[in-house]
Amino acid sequence: MPPYRIAVIGIGKIARDEHLPSIARDPRFTLAGVVSGSGASVPGVPTFREAAALYAAVPDLDAVAICTPPGPRTALVREALAAGVHVLMEKPPTPTVGELRDLAAVAERAKRVVFTTWHSQYNAAVEAMRARLAGQKLGRLAITWKEDVRRWHPGQDWIWQSAGFGVFDPGINALSILTRIMPEPVFVDSATLLTPANRAMPIAATIAFTSPALAPGGTLTAEFDWRQTGEQTWEIAADLAGGTALRLTGGGTTLSVDGTVVEDAPRHEYDRIYARFADLLAAGTSLVDMAPFELVADAFMVGRREAVEPFLD
Ligand code: NAP
Repeated sequence: MPPYRIAVIGIGKIARDEHLPSIARDPRFTLAGVVSGSGASVPGVPTFREAAALYAAVPDLDAVAICTPPGPRTALVREALAAGVHVLMEKPPTPTVGELRDLAAVAERAKRVVFTTWHSQYNAAVEAMRARLAGQKLGRLAITWKEDVRRWHPGQDWIWQSAGFGVFDPGINALSILTRIMPEPVFVDSATLLTPANRAMPIAATIAFTSPALAPGGTLTAEFDWRQTGEQTWEIAADLAGGTALRLTGGGTTLSVDGTVVEDAPRHEYDRIYARFADLLAAGTSLVDMAPFELVADAFMVGRREAVEPFLD
């Protein structure tokens, strides 16, 4: 079977760091074009300023990967589906849960595949932790996701605006791991959102969750903070009710059990994402996973707001 002809829309950091290299490595895809509002180009393929020009010029296109921030993504997905192409969506998928639900229905009517990617789910250590939590009760699970926004998001103004999600932009990666590994559903119980006085989105947040998987008196919490300088922390620590201590570190790449590393594979998240996309395309099946996104929406819904000092980039 010939490779799927795919185009990438939005040539920013994640498109260059991950999507374009993974597409180049995967024999089931061939890059047929890029769409860049700012005119960024990729050698050897045509560049278009707007998606409409791509669809007009490349009629045998199979799919697009939408690597813009979430704000413009809903309109771009609708346009792609109307043009008859399948869609891979970066995270967070859309500005709102309602739009994502609608896009899933639109894709079904159009008989096209949509794929909500949650890249942090695609690590072997995440699957290993999921296997160890299966059928278990938890005494404690604590997410600690603390990083320096100036280091990881320099000059990304969109991240502070409505539909940019603030600290939930990385925090949703932890939540996507959580919803993948937990043996039972998770619900937001309470949240506190700390928002700089000059910004629309939070710089830090704490969340307390409930879950039928918790043992009596058990706790499930998340702490997201973008003000962390020095050592960066992306960790999920879980104590099983029976006493075993599991620790998922490095953003989901390393799992240790009672202090011994049992899984530590190099990061191949995006190669796995494209392998999964090729399988979904071959099967004609969409994958729209709303669970991480719903937790963010619920945190915003029940969260108590506190203003903190202005953030200057
Ligand atoms: P970025 O470096 O700011 O790039 C985003 C690109 O999207 C821009 O360069 C621009 O490319 C295009 N774009 C279209 N409409 C835009 C708008 N209204 N505002 C800003 N850019 C717009 O962002 P990124 O880090 O690649 O993140 C993009 C998405 O990937 C986000 O949803 C993010 O959460 C996700 N992601 C990022 C990372 C990471 O490490 N950075 C990791 C995983 C996932 P053109 O000028 O070519 O149109």
